[in-house]
Amino acid sequence: VRSTAECGRVENVVIDATTDLDYLISGEVVFEIPLAEQRDLRERHVRAAFERHADISGRYGDFVRRQLGTTDLGSISLGEIPVIPTSSFKQHSVLSVAPEEISKWCVSSGTRGRQSTVGRDRRSLERLLGSIRAGISLIHSWLEDDVEVIHLGPERKEAGDIWFMYVMSLIELSFPTEHFVRRDHFHASEAIERIAKILKEGKQDIVVVGPPFRVQDLADAIERHQTRLDGGSRLSVVTAGGWKRLSGISVPRPEFDERISRVFGLREPTQIRDAFNQVELNTVFIECSAHRKHVPPWVYATTRDADRLRPQAVGTPGLLSYLDASAISYPAFIVTDDVGRVDEGECPCGRSGVTMTVERRLTRVSARGCALTLDKRTQQAGA
Ligand SMILES: [Zn+2]
Repeated sequence: VRSTAECGRVENVVIDATTDLDYLISGEVVFEIPLAEQRDLRERHVRAAFERHADISGRYGDFVRRQLGTTDLGSISLGEIPVIPTSSFKQHSVLSVAPEEISKWCVSSGTRGRQSTVGRDRRSLERLLGSIRAGISLIHSWLEDDVEVIHLGPERKEAGDIWFMYVMSLIELSFPTEHFVRRDHFHASEAIERIAKILKEGKQDIVVVGPPFRVQDLADAIERHQTRLDGGSRLSVVTAGGWKRLSGISVPRPEFDERISRVFGLREPTQIRDAFNQVELNTVFIECSAHRKHVPPWVYATTRDADRLRPQAVGTPGLLSYLDASAISYPAFIVTDDVGRVDEGECPCGRSGVTMTVERRLTRVSARGCALTLDKRTQQAGA
């Protein structure tokens, strides 16, 4: 219950009775749960969330009834639950709580076209934070004071509403964090000095967090200063915020890992981990040592075919789709325009579970499924 309590303290809110799902999310062993039990948890929590959202959210409820043609929601399988194309969040606000309960309107980080806006209440935000803590347990089981975060981004109040900046800044609620972007300026030399000092003191581990391009900027600065860093097994790097999408650079991952390992003096490239999230998803997926992003059991991840959006067999490439039970303020039952795959079973890291990989972004929005909209009139006009 630590993350909930901690988040509550920082945000100055008193949290009401912890439900089963809150308990699961704030537990720190979520990825150690046996696969059969993970499937049961998924079935239970995703179904409960679906029935609640279909009941409470007028817009999603109407969409569900149009799609399914039935009101007997108990009889349909998880794979039949209607999913909302993420593009719909650019046009509509889809809510399952009263607007006054929203504590943060979250705006996507995209630079082109209209942006998605998603409303979150406090508990949805606390659960999102819980998912980050759970994901970090895939790296190491640090206690709060074991580690210092070197954050290559702004702190939360400077991060504003831009989603990827905001999500990255949430790590400051879990660990002592120093930020090295202030007023849009990246202070690379200060970050290097700080890392060198912590390594020299020999007490804490270090996690460097930032988008890949910033990690590269830091590596450039280390080489320019001819600083020798010996991160050994004490330094980890967590990248977040996409590769090409935000940075405009595209370095192949193995090349990135090789260079960053060398410049930071890491013992192994497995100490570099990528994190995935998007504004419509209320859970952050973080890589294990095998560089696979583990999906926790409150999310049902599948790929779907672009035509009819039907869930595909495990391991089949398609449009990534998530039914995320952790969002309370909106139905996080989405199909994205990312092409990727979802695997289930034993991971080379030794854990059993579900993992996902993003392969590329769908570039042509011509698939019929992508024209699917929450708006009845548009749908009829397009039919
Ligand atoms: Zn793994």
